[in-house]
Amino acid sequence: MRWKEQLLKLTPYQPGKSIEQVKKQYQLEKIVKLASNENPFGCSEMVKSALRFHTESLAIYPNGNAANLREELAKFLQVDEEEIIFGNGSDNLIQMISRALLHPNASTVMSTNTFSQYKHNAILEGAIIKEVPDKNGEHDLDSMLAAIDEKTNVIWVCSPNNPTGTYIPESKLVAFLDQVPEHILVVLDEAYYEYVIADDYYDSIKLTRKYRNLIVLRTFSKIYGLAALRVGYGVAQKEIIKALEPAREPFNVNTVAQIAAAAAIADQKFVEECKKKNRQGLNQFYQFCKQNDLRYFPSQTNFILIDFKVESEKVFQFLLERGFIVRSGNALGFPTAVRITVGSKEQNEGVIKALEEFL
Ligand code: PMP
Repeated sequence: MRWKEQLLKLTPYQPGKSIEQVKKQYQLEKIVKLASNENPFGCSEMVKSALRFHTESLAIYPNGNAANLREELAKFLQVDEEEIIFGNGSDNLIQMISRALLHPNASTVMSTNTFSQYKHNAILEGAIIKEVPDKNGEHDLDSMLAAIDEKTNVIWVCSPNNPTGTYIPESKLVAFLDQVPEHILVVLDEAYYEYVIADDYYDSIKLTRKYRNLIVLRTFSKIYGLAALRVGYGVAQKEIIKALEPAREPFNVNTVAQIAAAAAIADQKFVEECKKKNRQGLNQFYQFCKQNDLRYFPSQTNFILIDFKVESEKVFQFLLERGFIVRSGNALGFPTAVRITVGSKEQNEGVIKALEEFL
């Protein structure tokens, strides 16, 4: 069977080398991990105090509805509580959407060189995958529309896109949404939303008011600095949320994660500071690229994809041996580039210094 063959080819997601692994392998004291787009500034102090909580609640199942977090997030986003669904990370939401809507007789449209989990989950569900070549690292929305067929159930849009960091301007996204037939779900993955500074970016939550077939995915793993706790959320009209709920595990967001995420929302000052420092960090990388005549994608995220014009594994390995874990572009569809997470000022200086030695 076609889909079984695909399943056998599927490899589990490989999150990259861990700090401990690299320390041991290269006998290094200090490792800087700039590979998974985490927040180098950690999380809000308010989260840390909220987590010094009464441990007796550990014996009790989490609130399956994430009631308090739901109330806080609904207030913050100015949406109804029934317009939100929570996931154990947004990975879990991608999985739920795929589980609920994809099957061997459905097709799903996505861009090449985007977040790997859309394709991974589509294969697991046995769906027909229509991968549309990107245009210079950006989704080719017209060709994605053209790829829709009578079996299409779900279209995946990642903006800002991982691994390029590029975004879709509002006018293009709206024109695209206007043309997608209403029975097809559009998933707009905005994992890096909070880092965006582009003027022509859209208010995606507002777009969910207008488009009945749009779901926006966001996460507490990036700017909120809570990747370890696994909390993501989807916002859409009630009908979509209701349809997805049966695919959600009853206790998919744990108690500690719910407390931390609710506290994190309350500290928008922390978010603003991280956004500002990230921009300064990106500028360090832009300057390095310009000085060394290296091509890069202008980024709306907390990472940057730089083309070194040599096999990406060479750059990756050179940095690894010097204690910097980055992401080789090889597996990301950019065989001569590496993706580097923007770190603290010192971490960025360190990795740039190592890269200058490489060049
Ligand atoms: N979407 C995109 C575009 C991502 O880059 C990531 C994290 N790498 C995720 C979703 C998943 O994030 P999480 O499960 O931690 O919320």
